Amino acid sequence: MTGIGTAEWVMARCDDLTRHSSRFDALERVYLSPEHAAANMAVRTWMLDAGLDTETDAAGNIWGRRAADGRPQRPGTEGEPALVLGSHLDTVPDAGRYDGMLGVVLAIAVAHRLRDVTLPFALEVVGFSDEEGTRFGKALLGSCAASGQWDPAWWDQADADGVTLREAFARFGLAPERVGDAARRPEDLVGYLEAHIEQGPVLESENLPLGYVTSIAGARRFVLTITGEARHAGGTPFARRRDALVAAAHLVTRIEELAKAADCLATVGDLHVQPGAVNVIPGRAELTLDLRGRTDAGRDALWDQIAAAGQRIAAARGVTFEVSETHRAPSTTCADRMTAAVAAGIAEATGTPSDTGAAGAAAPSDTVRGLWSPAGHDGMAMDAVTDVGMLFLRCRDGISHHPDEHVETADVGVALDAYTAAVLALARAHPGVEPAPLAESVETLGEKAR
Ligand SMILES: [Zn+2]
Repeated sequence: MTGIGTAEWVMARCDDLTRHSSRFDALERVYLSPEHAAANMAVRTWMLDAGLDTETDAAGNIWGRRAADGRPQRPGTEGEPALVLGSHLDTVPDAGRYDGMLGVVLAIAVAHRLRDVTLPFALEVVGFSDEEGTRFGKALLGSCAASGQWDPAWWDQADADGVTLREAFARFGLAPERVGDAARRPEDLVGYLEAHIEQGPVLESENLPLGYVTSIAGARRFVLTITGEARHAGGTPFARRRDALVAAAHLVTRIEELAKAADCLATVGDLHVQPGAVNVIPGRAELTLDLRGRTDAGRDALWDQIAAAGQRIAAARGVTFEVSETHRAPSTTCADRMTAAVAAGIAEATGTPSDTGAAGAAAPSDTVRGLWSPAGHDGMAMDAVTDVGMLFLRCRDGISHHPDEHVETADVGVALDAYTAAVLALARAHPGVEPAPLAESVETLGEKAR
C-alpha cells in the first residue's frame, strides 16, 4: 500500500469513506447516524497511524492531537495551544466523495508528514460531524458546538422521521446536557486551517491547482410573496388580471440582472404557485431567494435593489409584494496571517514566485490566486474562537454536491505540499520563534512519506 503521507493514500481513503453510507446506490452520511459513527471509527484509525491520539467530543466530532514536540496527546488535555486542521465528514444526499472528507484526510496526511518535526504549537486534526445540515436543517452543528455557539433552541428540531436532535444525541451515545464540553477556548487555539475542493469553476478555468480563500460569504435568505387575484382563465381579459405568477416571473429575471451587475450570486430556488390549476390565473406566488456576496455590504446593497424592484413590479401589475427574511449570516474574512501562510504554501508547492517572505507574515502574494467562497464552510463557525484560513483545490467542471465530484491525484499531491508548507509558514511566523528553526523542507517531508 502507498504510504500515509501520499496523494494516492489520500485518494484511497476518500474512496474508503464512501462505504459508510445509508444508501447502497449513493453516498449519504448524516449527523448522528450509524454511518457517522463508522466514519469516525475509520478516521480514528488513520489518525492513530499518523501519530495522533484521538477523542470523540461531546457533539460527535472526531479529534486527533499531537503535542508541539510530536508526542501523541489526548485532545482536550492541558497543553500548548493548537493549530487545528480539518473539515467535515457528513454529506448531502447523493453526495460526491471529496466535499469535506478530502480536507479531513489531507489534514491527517499533513500531520503524518510533520510527525517528526517539532512545532511551536500543538497540532490537531478534526473531522466535524455536521456541516451540511442535511438531517436537521441546521448547518454547521459540529463546528458550532466546537466554537461554543450551540443554541438550545435546536434540541427540538426533528429529522424527516420525527427524531429530535435531543433523541438522536442519546441514540448516538452522547449526553445532550454535556454538549458544552465540546466548546474550545480561544486561548487554546492557534488557528483553524481547512483544505476543501473549490465547488466552483474558477481555478479550473484559470488552469490552477490551488488557491487561497479571502472570505467565506454569508448568505441571506428570503421568502418573497406576491399576491394578486385568482380568476377564471377564460373569462378574464388581460386588462383585468392581477396575475401573481407573471409578476413573479418578471421579478426572477430582474433578480438575475441585478445580481450580475452587482457581482453577487442570487438564486430563486423554489417557486410555489396557488391555486395551481391549468384554468385559473395564479393568485399567489411564493419564491425563495438566496443571496451571497464577496462582502456583506455588497450583498445587502443588492437586496435593497431587489426589494425596490419587487415593489415597482408589484405596483405596475396591481399585486402586492411582501418579504420575510428566513436566514442571515455574516461573511467570514480569513485572517491575514492565515491567508499569508496558505499563499506562501501554495507558492512553495507550485514554484510560484512569492512576495510573502520567509516568515509568511506579509500580505498574500499577488502571484498566487485568492478567491472568495460563495459556499459555506466550518470556518464560519470557528471564526468565533480563532483565526481561519482555507486552501481550495481545483475540482473538475466545478461540480460538487453530486456523485461526479472529482479531483485529480496530482492536484492532491500539490495540495499536500502546500498544506504542509502552510503549517510550517505559520510555525515560522509564530510569536517567539527564531527564523528558520525548521530544517526540513516540504519536499524532504514528502519524500519521507513515500
Ligand atoms: Zn464541504
